[in-house]
This record gives sequence, C-alpha cells and structure tokens, in this order.
Amino acid sequence: MSEDVFKKIVSHCKEYGFVFQSSEIYDGLSAVYDYGQMGVELKNNIKKYWWDSMVLLHENVVGIDSAIFMHPTIWKASGHVDAFNDPLIDNKDSKKRYRADVLIEDHMAKIDDKINKEVEKAAKRFGESFDEAMFRQTNPRILENQAKRNEVHTRFAKALNDNNLDELRQIIVDCEIVDPISGTRNWTDVRQFNLMFSTEMGSTADGAMKVYLRPETAQGIFVNFLNVQKTGRMKIPFGIAQIGKAFRNEIVARQFIFRMREFEQMEMQFFVRPGEELEWFAKWKDIRMKWHKALGFGDHKYRFHDHDKLAHYANAATDVEFEMPFGFKEVEGIHSRTDFDLSSHEKFSGKKIQYFDPELNKSYTPYVIETSIGVDRMFLSTMSAAYCEEEVEGGETRVVLKLPAALAPIKLGVLPLIKKDGLPEKAQEIIDNLKFDFKCQYDEKDSIGKRYRRQDAIGTPYCVTVDHQTLEDNTVTIRYRDTMEQERVAIDKLAGIISDKVSMKNLLKTIV
Ligand code: ATP
Repeated sequence: MSEDVFKKIVSHCKEYGFVFQSSEIYDGLSAVYDYGQMGVELKNNIKKYWWDSMVLLHENVVGIDSAIFMHPTIWKASGHVDAFNDPLIDNKDSKKRYRADVLIEDHMAKIDDKINKEVEKAAKRFGESFDEAMFRQTNPRILENQAKRNEVHTRFAKALNDNNLDELRQIIVDCEIVDPISGTRNWTDVRQFNLMFSTEMGSTADGAMKVYLRPETAQGIFVNFLNVQKTGRMKIPFGIAQIGKAFRNEIVARQFIFRMREFEQMEMQFFVRPGEELEWFAKWKDIRMKWHKALGFGDHKYRFHDHDKLAHYANAATDVEFEMPFGFKEVEGIHSRTDFDLSSHEKFSGKKIQYFDPELNKSYTPYVIETSIGVDRMFLSTMSAAYCEEEVEGGETRVVLKLPAALAPIKLGVLPLIKKDGLPEKAQEIIDNLKFDFKCQYDEKDSIGKRYRRQDAIGTPYCVTVDHQTLEDNTVTIRYRDTMEQERVAIDKLAGIISDKVSMKNLLKTIV
C-alpha cells in the first residue's frame, strides 16, 4: 500500500462521517480530530472489544475511570516533568521542526528498503532456485548497506541511552540527512522539548496551581492501586484497566490520527510478584497479539518490535507494530515497568503502597506489566486494513470497508425497493424489531445499486431489500457485503442470521 492509498483513506474518513478535522470551519486545529457519526460507532466498538477482552475474559482484571486532572506531584513522581521529552531539531531554511530520533529512524528505514528491493529483484531474476539467506550474506551491495545500517543503529541506540543530544545531531550530519521540504542540511542544535500540556487550576487570586493534562492514563491506575486492591479484595496477580483521553504536545504531528495532540488510550496495568514479571510479560505479549490477529486482517500485518532504548523504569519492552499504508508502525506498547511507579509514588506521597501476600506471608511492592494501546491508532489500522477498492461487473470499481462485522458501525442496511406501496412502512417495521439487537440504518434514496455502494463504503456487512413480494410472504433479499451474493430469506430468520455474525461475544470467543 502506498501514500496514495493513505490519502484516499483520509478523504474516505471525511466523506463518510468517520473523522473530521477539529474546528474545521475555523480552518482546523493542528493534530486534533473529531469523530463523526460513523467514526464514533467504530471507535466505541473497538473500545468495547478491548474492554470486554480485559474485564470480561479475565476475572482478575477490573476497570476504573480516573480523572484527567491529577495532583501535579504525580507527574514529578512518574518522571514526566523531568524526562518526558522529545529531542527536536529545526531546519534553518524551511523553518520546520522535526524529531531528531524520527529523522534517523526514517533514514535507517530507507536503507532497509534498499536492501529489500535488492533482494526482491534478485528473487525475480533467480526464480525458484533463489536462496535468500545466502544472497543476503554474500551480495556485496547488501553487505555494504547492512554494515552502514548497523553502524548508524549502534550509534543511535547509544546516543539515546546516553541522552547525548550532540551525538544525535552528529548522526544526522554524518548520514547527510536532508530536510524533505528544503532539501538542505542546514540544521540547528538538538534540544529537549517537554510534551506535557499544562494549565492552571483555581483563580490566580487564590494562588493558582499549575496542573497538567495527563499524557497517559496509567498514572491514574497507579495512584488508585491501593483503593482498588483493598475495596475489591484483589489478590496478586491482578490487573486494572482504563480507557481515557491523554494529551501530548507532539512536536511533529502528522499522518492524520496516527499522532495527535489529544488522543485516547486503553491501558491495563497488571500487578505481579517481583521476579515473576518476565513470565507475565511473555504471557501478555501472546494475549495481546491474539487479540489483534483475531480481527482477521492477516497475521503478516503484525510484528513485535523490541525497544532499543528501555525507559528508565522498564526491564523489558516491546511494541506491537501494524503495517499501515506508510509502513510498520507502533499501535501498542507492552512494558515490564518493574516496581518503579508504585515505589516512586510511595516516596513522593509518603504513603506506604505495598501488598501483603498471604501465600508468601510477606509484604512487597508489586511489579507491573503494562499493555498500552491507542484507540485512534487502532482505528487507523482498522480503517487501513479494511479499505478496499474492487473491480465489479461492468468495469466499475466499488469502495468497500471490509470491517470485521463486530466492529462495523452499522450492521444492517434496510432498503425499500421503492418509496411507496407500503414498502417504507414494512422496512421500518423490520428495523423496529431488530433495533434492540444491533444498529440498523434505513435508506430509501437513489437506486438500490447506489444504496448498496453507500453501505459498502461504511462497511455495513448486511443489507436487506424490501419489495412487493415481502408484503405477500414476509421474505426479503439479503445481500452480503464481501461476496455481494444475494438470497431470499424469511424476515423472522434475520435476527438469527445476523446476530451471530455481528456479535462481540463470538469475536471474543475466538481469543480465549
Ligand atoms: P510514539 O513512539 O509513536 O510517540 P510512544 O512510544 O510514545 O509512541 P506510548 O507512550 O507507549 O507511545 O503510548 C502507548 C500508545 O498510545 C501508543 O502505542 C499509541 O498507540 C498511543 N499514542 C501515543 N502517543 C500518541 C499520539 N500522539 N497520538 C495517538 N496515539 C498515541
């Protein structure tokens, strides 16, 4: 898939009421987006899929909903005030600002592309006898590029770990990375930039307090650890899940809803005995990957990417990456955060935050495995994977969103063949009976063909057409989105046919 397809997805999102630019009539607000009438349904379904997979399928995972504003010392304790920075660099000619680490990562990705193209070319040339591993180990051009990439990678990982901003700049200079806009190499120094938004709480006369808009939902879970553990009588291992908004003043906000300044996270902190964290880390990696793959977009679209730079609190970390139209990108992070957060809150708050383990007969600070996924990135990956242009009879193309039925905003389109003879009333009657089970949409405008296309474009898995025969024998024509096949079925069979296929329950059953 290419950038071109990505552009089409972005405009499709707007045209069909999935995602709008925020404050559009005022020319928009950068990296902030609104979800429209279709988008909100898809988003809610994604959230439900995640929430139910956590709190329904795991008896030892419970949810909370903590406030966006929190005591400012929390962000001192978490390290965000001092260390939630991105290294930024400006190009003096274009006056554009970039993340230094992203410039270098993009450069390495370009070298990877070169290598892969070389391999593809050779594969075509040699046909069946092609030995890819051997080719990679012996081809001089590949070896040269691989050595170049390894060298950059080693320097890059070290610079990040040492927080060496000068070295980051030097890598950009040595790699001759140019600004994509001005094409020049006229770079400033690299500086750190804190990503938290702040505001003031209370009136200034009272002495207003500087508070932050949370940059992650996780801290709301940590500071409620004891509340939930005690009131819920939770025994370790157990988890706390939360869905909520987070805010980051991203330096380079681009790629649509991939990197936003206001976004939504679904996070789960799983508290375990010290020493058992890596075992749980491996388990949660499996559980989360299964959750992604169950959507049926193809296993090859996912991969794990282990972190080069571990955050100061982590002893293992990986990303779940999804193949977006612009390459493999992080959708979810899975981190083993040790006892860093709870210990730190204990220190800063002066309150004891420990767990008494009745089996071990001792108290300790639990270790934590975190799974953290962005709703909006999940939305984007779902849209990208579902978006499809197909050639149909007569050389026409149809745009169809092949959304998993459980996530589709509308499950059933109900279309009277014509706007008279009692057909609209009959269609409405069908909706009135089915609306308790799933979301239906009535549409009587334009030809049936056009109406099918509109439902395809929003990913509706089923449509039924109500015609004159319906009035006689209570049957309708059901049409399936993906195959476009049609068949005649009795109205009283509809709930049975559709409910099973669109049910979240059946999707969840595939991941246990
Ligand atoms: P990135 O490296 O892309 O900035 P991150 O590693 O900082 O992401 P985390 O802090 O691990 O991200 O956040 C967990 C998840 O929250 C990410 O996997 C992503 O899905 C989501 N997320 C983070 N920042 C944004 C953002 N600016 N816009 C949308 N989603 C985001």
